[in-house]
Amino acid sequence: MEREVSGMRKYYESGKTKEASWRESQLKGLRSALMEKEEDILKALKQDLGKHHVEAFRDEVGILGRSIDVALKSLRRWMAGREAKLPKIAVLSRADIVPEPLGLVLIMSSWNFPFGLSLEPLIGAIAAGNAAVLKPSEMSPACSSLLATILASYLDNNAIKVFQGGPQLGQQLLCQKWDKIFFTGSAQVGRIVMSAAAQHLTPVTLELGGKCPAVVDSLSASWDTQVAAKRIVSAKYGSCAGQACIAIDYVIVERNFAPVLVESMKAWINKMFGENPKENNSVARVVNKQHFSRLKNLLDYPEAKNSLVFGGSMDEDSLFIEPTILVDPPLESEIMREEIFGPLLPIITVEKIEDSIQFIKSRPKPLAIYAFTNNKTLQRRMSSETSSGSIVFNDAIVQYVADTIPFGGVGGSGFGKYHGKFSFDTFSHEKAVMQRSFYTDFWFRHPPWTLNKFQL
Ligand code: NAD
Repeated sequence: MEREVSGMRKYYESGKTKEASWRESQLKGLRSALMEKEEDILKALKQDLGKHHVEAFRDEVGILGRSIDVALKSLRRWMAGREAKLPKIAVLSRADIVPEPLGLVLIMSSWNFPFGLSLEPLIGAIAAGNAAVLKPSEMSPACSSLLATILASYLDNNAIKVFQGGPQLGQQLLCQKWDKIFFTGSAQVGRIVMSAAAQHLTPVTLELGGKCPAVVDSLSASWDTQVAAKRIVSAKYGSCAGQACIAIDYVIVERNFAPVLVESMKAWINKMFGENPKENNSVARVVNKQHFSRLKNLLDYPEAKNSLVFGGSMDEDSLFIEPTILVDPPLESEIMREEIFGPLLPIITVEKIEDSIQFIKSRPKPLAIYAFTNNKTLQRRMSSETSSGSIVFNDAIVQYVADTIPFGGVGGSGFGKYHGKFSFDTFSHEKAVMQRSFYTDFWFRHPPWTLNKFQL
């Protein structure tokens, strides 16, 4: 590994990856890979996570294709940098902010969107002119091995390599010197990454998780309730079965409105996933037995079980868990303390919907907050009084596809941001370049100090 990494560094130092034409060729290579290997990618996602091919295309191949096109279209403009204003005293001078690549970067990713979470940062790393090592997760082995094969045959292997393995390999990689580490995963491993990075003063981006709440106001129009319930059900159970960092972790609703919302959600679950969701291929599978038993234990907690109002059936052999709703599990139960990361959805009732603000504020800052409401005052308060990576009104998880807004966490949900131009910036150093002329040199800015006072 050390030999390969040092070979990559040498290649980076040759300047090849800085060329705009190299960056474009790699992005085009990646786009060809996605198009030509689409069927294999969807198959691997089915194998590792039981994702329906339509969901898999929407969440991974489709979004990535768009990100590549955006990067290709904007690359030369992003690379050009921008001129900066200077104070008057700097007459006949010019200043520019010029992006330069960071160097050799490490991207470590998670298993739930194995292609998206590996290639989305890689697009940014390539666009910014870096060499990159990718370490996908060992928990989605078919996807990781396909990633390795695809990247080896479509991209420049002198500068882009995949290393496959688990925590041990992760540790070995973290011992190397990198110019940037981009990590997607748990807060627990995020801490390990950060302390390893500290040894080399390597900058890091941490894309972590947490518990993302969805606040549902007592919507007066039945249409609004229907749409809110539909979007909550689809976002929670229809995207990797709730195994997503921006999945709704729990819902907050007024006590009187909870039965209306629950009934509407049950109807949507039936419509989307059928009477027998296990036989319907639209719910992805839990990634492995370890996560299956973790989720089973969350539900087995006695008080959590008592609050079950829908679903709850499980099949360990096929790693299937039915879309499940709980109402008011105790706040001290595991399901309300840990990130759920699966198709279990607790609904917490409050007296007044405004109480949800304090509820959210009293917990770690989430990656996303969702609020379904037409009440502008509540929207304003929710936005200004809480802190989260993103906030979305009247929908969920759609922020992931909007490449003009930054994607990333704050506080416990991580730091740093990417997507679109933000990915390019994340893998670039903005160098200040100042150009002075030999003409006009004001005598009073140099010693001996003769003026009483002057300001530049
Ligand atoms: P994880 O932290 O267990 O693993 C992430 C990566 O780190 C994997 O590649 C893994 O092999 C590696 N790794 C694991 N242990 C390691 C160690 N001791 N040393 C070095 N490397 C190690 O996380 P996960 O189970 O893959 O993902 C689940 C978590 O990731 C959830 O908390 C979820 O919310 C979060 N997540 C965040 C985002 C985001 O964009 N913010 C996206 C997906 C997942």
